[in-house]
Amino acid sequence: MLTCVWCGRSFNLTVTVTMIWQWRPLPQPALCAVCCARLTPINSQHCPQCGRQQASNTCCRDCLRWHDSLRNRALYCYDEGMKAYMQQYKFQGDYRLRLGLQASLRTALDREDYDILVPIPIDAQTWQTRGFNQVTGWLTGQPFQQVLTVTATHKDRPQSAKTRQERLLTPQPFELVSGASEIVSNQRVLLIDDVYTTGRTLRHAARQIYLGGAKAVTSLTLAR
Ligand SMILES: [Zn+2]
Ligand SMILES: [Zn+2]
Repeated sequence: MLTCVWCGRSFNLTVTVTMIWQWRPLPQPALCAVCCARLTPINSQHCPQCGRQQASNTCCRDCLRWHDSLRNRALYCYDEGMKAYMQQYKFQGDYRLRLGLQASLRTALDREDYDILVPIPIDAQTWQTRGFNQVTGWLTGQPFQQVLTVTATHKDRPQSAKTRQERLLTPQPFELVSGASEIVSNQRVLLIDDVYTTGRTLRHAARQIYLGGAKAVTSLTLAR
């Protein structure tokens, strides 16, 4: 019997053919079937640029307005279920919940082509209140490079407390740590973040990584 990290109920492990054929064992399932069903995986019908689930495979309206080509892929729809998960994990700081999405993220990372994984950093104040970076909490031993940091002078309200317009106007919050250029120069960098909302945060991060000399920057988020 396993215990679901989200609802606390006990559940049985169902072994599937896919699990048997995996060339390495996936982390033990941490969510029961009921909690899994609260999340909506994004299927093949999505915006080719930001990864948003939609009825067609054409570029969504938000992406047309960006006039650039930052490619993002996302694992789940940012719906009520995912919002409830993020609320408990990030804002109530329930660190065990990281286990619930580790296997999905690992599968998604295996599909991506990149040289270096760069998580979006959290600011000093969040470190103090939350005590962990929600993004690195989902990783299961994949090497990553924390080449970005939130600038010390960056005083801002959380993205979640802002309107869309305010998010789009957010000034650059990131800078490269010293020695970052040697790490990212001429590399394909995959940024990883929790939620793609307007895409502003990822674009700020991508800009700094490109300034460090990266060959390509793409991104992966848990939700869109
Ligand atoms: Zn559950
Ligand atoms: Zn889009």
